[in-house]
Amino acid sequence: MTTDRFLPDLPDDKLARIQLEGLRWTVGHAMNNAVYAERLKKAGVSGPEDIHSLEDLQRLPFTTVEDLRDGYPLPLLCVPEKDIVRIHASSGTTGKRKVLAYTANDTANFALQMARCYEMAGLTKEDRIQIAVGYGLWTAGAGFQAGSELFGAFTIPIGPGNLDMQLQLMKDLKSTCIGCTASMALLLAEEVERKGLRDSLSLKKIIFGSEPHSLKMRQAFTEKLGVEHTYDIAGMTEMYGPGTGLNCDECDGIHYWADLFIHEIVDPHTLKPVPDGEVGELVVTSLRKEAVPLIRYRTHDLTRIVPGQCACGRRIPRHGHIRGRSDDMIIYRGVNIYPGQLSDVLNGFADVGGEYHVELTRSEGLDYMAMKVERAGGVSSDNDKNLAQAVSMELHKRIMARISVEIVDPGTLPRAFGKSKRVTDNRLE
Ligand SMILES: [Zn+2]
Repeated sequence: MTTDRFLPDLPDDKLARIQLEGLRWTVGHAMNNAVYAERLKKAGVSGPEDIHSLEDLQRLPFTTVEDLRDGYPLPLLCVPEKDIVRIHASSGTTGKRKVLAYTANDTANFALQMARCYEMAGLTKEDRIQIAVGYGLWTAGAGFQAGSELFGAFTIPIGPGNLDMQLQLMKDLKSTCIGCTASMALLLAEEVERKGLRDSLSLKKIIFGSEPHSLKMRQAFTEKLGVEHTYDIAGMTEMYGPGTGLNCDECDGIHYWADLFIHEIVDPHTLKPVPDGEVGELVVTSLRKEAVPLIRYRTHDLTRIVPGQCACGRRIPRHGHIRGRSDDMIIYRGVNIYPGQLSDVLNGFADVGGEYHVELTRSEGLDYMAMKVERAGGVSSDNDKNLAQAVSMELHKRIMARISVEIVDPGTLPRAFGKSKRVTDNRLE
């Protein structure tokens, strides 16, 4: 017996039926775009009649971020431009921006996927959601807001930054949930602690957009802000925006909306599917997207499918937390290292905080990696040398990499409103 209003119930047979229907529709609809049509025909697919089962997904060509950039300004568009009701764009740090178009149905599904996240986080219409993620071209603000309104919560749209205003409105309007980046929540938590505001707040939950948080960060938020639970949201501009999935209170993976997107996990080198449970690159195929459908879109996000049913009882599949990007991967002395693995190691040490920074250098043809880690608050610096050595040994044991470690004072590493820059690579001449 479920009281879910927005979350789907997806037993295996029903899910397979929805996915096959959605895949067939998407393949047929993609034929409206010349790039898609040509590639599908080359792969021997001339329409939905060639898709007989979900296995046929393997025959379809991949789509890449270059396909979206090359088609600037309205790449892979499958509807007439008059049917577009909105666009969003990525930050575009390298090369051209990716602009993604939305039809009215697309914006409705975007709101739906976000409303499902609020429900997954255990919120109700009584909750007050403070939105401190970016607005404008960026998808986050629009998604958090439309989802919150559809869900029926008291919505407080602020946008990122401006800590004083965030704290004042949080207190005066009794926000119970905030959506922000983990870096920003850390700044807020430190400010709340400094000003002794914890008991004047009603905050219970935090939903993190765009930047997953570590166990250490979660502990800091629980202590300093008094929150009950924190959640990582999945998503990307290509998949409407944030909200394609969220962890439930069991915290064993992220439930994703498999009736909206098929998630495949492939080996980033061979592009062949990996067995359930193994880490690989997430590849997504949309099932309802109209303006810019996705066919086997390579996300470059690394994750895994979590096998089995969740202890929460919901019949909604799960993927693991995003373990970094296949292109963020550090190749150090022949070892592949994902930033998530470094956090995992630090989580095992009570005397260090969650903040770290690594620098890669090259000297006489050999690579070196140096890591700065903040000591946990209230811990004496007397033991720094031993602690650094213990962290270094554990890194070697777990990641098979020699990394020199230095312990620094809490609060000394740079904080950022957006994604923290934790890696500096100075190896290139
Ligand atoms: Zn669950």
